[in-house]
Amino acid sequence: MQLIDGKATANKIKEELKKEVAAIIDSEERAPHLVAVLVGNDPASDTYVSSKEKNAKKLGFTSSVYRLESDTSEEELLKTVDFLNKDPEVDGFIVQLPLPEHIDSDKVIQSVDPKKDVDGFHPVNLGRMMTGLPAYLPATPNGIMELLKRYEIETEGKHCVVLGRSNIVGTPMNILMSRKTNPGNATVTMCHSRTKNLEEHIKSADIIIAAMGKKEFVTADMVKEGAVVIDVGIHREKSDKTKSGYKLKGDVAFDEVSKKASFMTPVPGGVGPMTIVSLLMNTLKAYKKEIYPE
Ligand code: NAP
Repeated sequence: MQLIDGKATANKIKEELKKEVAAIIDSEERAPHLVAVLVGNDPASDTYVSSKEKNAKKLGFTSSVYRLESDTSEEELLKTVDFLNKDPEVDGFIVQLPLPEHIDSDKVIQSVDPKKDVDGFHPVNLGRMMTGLPAYLPATPNGIMELLKRYEIETEGKHCVVLGRSNIVGTPMNILMSRKTNPGNATVTMCHSRTKNLEEHIKSADIIIAAMGKKEFVTADMVKEGAVVIDVGIHREKSDKTKSGYKLKGDVAFDEVSKKASFMTPVPGGVGPMTIVSLLMNTLKAYKKEIYPE
């Protein structure tokens, strides 16, 4: 089994981005600017946003965070989005999800200018992705496609089983893998909680993309010899063997499945590190107006 090292790949892409941003600054242009809007003080969201900010700054991007109180009204948040949409010095921004319950997330997502929607969540970007037009791709699926590309994993004509149909992972993964591209050109089965004979589908897969949020659900008996396994799941498990007091597990039972897989992503160090890098790749594209030329 060859390990798909997301951490090493992400570091390589970071070096590439750093060089490109340094060249922009050397030519006396302003640096690409990413903004994150965080409403409330959910600790997980806070960690994600701080990590995005830290990574962006390290690579030479300008990065700012708008921290809004948890009782911020929907109207105030929409005003902030409108302000960022209009600010010519902001290339891309994200509104960190989940939002407090009194705010309609769909309304907020739809208020972001698609040209600045570096999370790729706006229906315009999702529609463009579906029709094969240039689009900001959602970070996690984009990161997975980048891993498949860089590890030269053959996907054409393969049977790919995607476990999960969320708007941020499963559904875009299904679309990207079935598009007439490389990676892509796969025959995709998208499974969800109502799928019958789930194990039979998984067993027939050449490529498994597990994004169901169920700890170690996929076990060796469900996996075909030589399958490619991409594990998106992230679960914290208490551990007295680590400094942090916990360790991370995926949707796939790594120890047993890795004995049958041909390629496999670990958790941690697989898909996760690619997600932030994808956001920065999109921000650079926004700066260069690659997706929406004026
Ligand atoms: P989600 O919105 O909860 O969606 C889970 C999907 O899995 C749903 O479509 C659900 O079906 C399906 N599902 C749940 N239980 C199932 C079962 N027993 N059999 C078949 N399908 C089942 O989750 P998500 O946001 O896509 O995230 C999935 C996992 O990836 C989570 O562990 C999350 O933490 C992780 N994640 C990791 C990254 C990263 O950067 N590595 C990024 C995003 C998410 P229904 O639609 O029928 O409910």
